[in-house]
Amino acid sequence: MIYLDNCATTRPCDEAIKAVCENMSENFGNPSSLHKAGIEAEKVLKSAKKTILNKLGLDGEIYFTSGATESNNTAILGTAKAYKHNGRRIVTTAMEHPSVAEPINKLCEQGYTAVRLAPKDYENFEQAIIDAVDSDTYLVSVMWVNNETGYITDTAKIYNGVKRKNPKTIVHVDAVQGFCKLPSKTLKADFVSISAHKVHGTKGVGALFVAKGMRFEPLLYGGGQQKNLRSGTEAVDLIAGFEAAVKAYPDCREKYEKLNTLLQERLSAYEGITINSFNNSKNILNFSVKGVRSEIMLHFLEESGIYVSSGSACSKGKTSGVLAAFGVSDENADSAIRASFCPETTESDIEALAEQIGRGIERFRR
Ligand code: PMP
Repeated sequence: MIYLDNCATTRPCDEAIKAVCENMSENFGNPSSLHKAGIEAEKVLKSAKKTILNKLGLDGEIYFTSGATESNNTAILGTAKAYKHNGRRIVTTAMEHPSVAEPINKLCEQGYTAVRLAPKDYENFEQAIIDAVDSDTYLVSVMWVNNETGYITDTAKIYNGVKRKNPKTIVHVDAVQGFCKLPSKTLKADFVSISAHKVHGTKGVGALFVAKGMRFEPLLYGGGQQKNLRSGTEAVDLIAGFEAAVKAYPDCREKYEKLNTLLQERLSAYEGITINSFNNSKNILNFSVKGVRSEIMLHFLEESGIYVSSGSACSKGKTSGVLAAFGVSDENADSAIRASFCPETTESDIEALAEQIGRGIERFRR
């Protein structure tokens, strides 16, 4: 199998699998229990928090969640409640994941307004986001790396500009696709969402970073775990795997750059290829193959064991509205392919993908 769909999910790394299994069999205590088994389980949580904070390069608290969908919902809905006197307006982008866009839609049904900016409309996207903030803006929510094109937003620039304009505005960043892949110096926020299964941990666990002094109302009520802010027994074993995966993720920026360049070079041999990724994280390349619909190409590649995506896995094959935010035409969006790499991706994987795309063009182009 040549797996080039690492933005959808990743294969758990050996370190994560080992940590999950060891904790399941040998450290199964409830971190809220007062006895030794509980204390040992709690140690796992503490250690994982430290590792994740260190990787994020931010100062604050980590709350473990079931994944980034929960982290995003908590950050958006939980701050709307906690800061209801700060305003009723949200500044966000037209390229957000549904787990950000949908809770914002829910708030709009309750009387909030949202401004959604598209990268295609601005030369200086970060500045446009800052300019859109006014005295009624309680939240700016912007993703670090777009999951479909890899487009990078300088969240540190946004954070600094937003705080200058309105110190009360909260900045939330969905950092799922940038975490472990980009240096943390371009990440700055009051709230940050991350997910383990995008960095070779397991599905079903994620985290929400909350900067010092920030508050949110919980989405879940119950046993009062995690300082009463996220009730439910913590998934200790999955969290141990998350920590192991974060520790094991190598710096692959040079490697991704080479693979990305190689793929673009090979694709340029064919007519009618449009690259849809710019200003992007190099582990992602989105391109359109004129005259061949995404799904046809995706299944043709699958026949030879190559796995890519036709957009984000979350949009389940529907044409991506996100690509339109980057100025991609409907025709190109209809034939878009996303290849996303991982530390194990090799040059020969890329050669195989490019060759098979060539065969697909010969077979299917109309
Ligand atoms: N945000 C982004 C940018 C994503 O790519 C994803 C996963 N597709 C999510 C949020 C949701 O993450 P999870 O699967 O952990 O809920």
